[in-house]
Amino acid sequence: MSHPFIYMDNCATTKLATEAFTSMLPFMESNYGNASSTAHKAGRIAAEAVFTAREQVAALIHAHPKEITFTSGATESNNMAIKSIYEHYSSLGNHIITCKTEHPAVLEVCRYLESKGARVTYLDVDAYGHIDLSILEESISRETILIALMAANNETGVTHPVQEIGAIAQKKNVLFFCDATQAVGILDIDPNRDGIDILSLSAHKFYGPKGIGAIYIKRKPRQPIQIHSIIHGGKQENGLRGGTLNVPAIVGMGTAAELAHRQKKGDLIRLSALRDQLEQSILQLEATELNGKTPYRLPHVSNICFRHIRGSEIMTQLPNIALSSGSACATGSLEPSHVLLSMGLSTDDVHSSLRFSLGRYTTEKEIHQTIDQVKNAVDQIREKSPIWQLFKAGLLN
Ligand code: PMP
Repeated sequence: MSHPFIYMDNCATTKLATEAFTSMLPFMESNYGNASSTAHKAGRIAAEAVFTAREQVAALIHAHPKEITFTSGATESNNMAIKSIYEHYSSLGNHIITCKTEHPAVLEVCRYLESKGARVTYLDVDAYGHIDLSILEESISRETILIALMAANNETGVTHPVQEIGAIAQKKNVLFFCDATQAVGILDIDPNRDGIDILSLSAHKFYGPKGIGAIYIKRKPRQPIQIHSIIHGGKQENGLRGGTLNVPAIVGMGTAAELAHRQKKGDLIRLSALRDQLEQSILQLEATELNGKTPYRLPHVSNICFRHIRGSEIMTQLPNIALSSGSACATGSLEPSHVLLSMGLSTDDVHSSLRFSLGRYTTEKEIHQTIDQVKNAVDQIREKSPIWQLFKAGLLN
């Protein structure tokens, strides 16, 4: 019997909300004007739609529309933030502080800048995925120009104490850039409250279209943050990002932002209850552990280690459940997840781990079906596994 398809990979991407999809359609059919061509009606309709979307995206993070610049997604926003801060502030220092569990769209930018002369501190995390705030503070020197720390981890859902980090950054007068891609639309992110100077977000993580995102740059009239374009061209987006605006995608992002703004409180309560149900049942399995077992994590993510078997075997056995071993960006590579390794897991345990990420459209029925199917698959694989037999005989711990 084949099972219906169940999508449990919402950290990789989310389904486009019907409301977002519908709002995009007119801008792909009849309202195809260029938002910069405001000399005529077609352009003005597009420009007005972009204006509204900017307000909607700003509202989601309690920001001012002028603080929002549209980009192609969080990868671009991260590149723009870190590279241009490094270039502008290099006369003040060359030191950047980040963390070992950041997304490759931060880590790879830092590595690139190291090749250009930057000094980068990669903070360690403990077994729960948390950084030590006193070590963060001690790492700040006169040369430090940027702290780049994410709001929530894309593999484990573990959150960083953003407000405390913001307070340290303010006290030490260092800029704080936060990759909030996984948290925006789920948690209440407020860069003003949290002391975040620059923040990146991506529409496809909150039921908007792919290939569109934004960077928030705090307005500081007395000491403006010096961020410049990394895509040179026309004067779009106040000269911060050349290229004709992708109006349909921007409109879809705006609609998705407005929806998320309205629904995130309800989603959070519903999703954490579903996630708890999933964890309570699955963690009853022998030698099965939660990675990042901390209250400080996203409400819809469980990263679970099924010891002594491979996560990929479970996925092969369950072709109708969309799960993830490690992060989507690492899929295809056999490299074990740098996030789980940094938390102290053995390579074997990393390969035994799977991420379940629920979403707005996950139903309770799907949770029950997932629990049943995962438990069956794990039992079956373990029954046939010589390594599992060794473990059961007490010859392996
Ligand atoms: N940062 C984080 C934390 C992410 O999870 C992702 C997406 N996996 C990105 C950045 C990159 O986002 P985008 O797909 O919009 O480039």
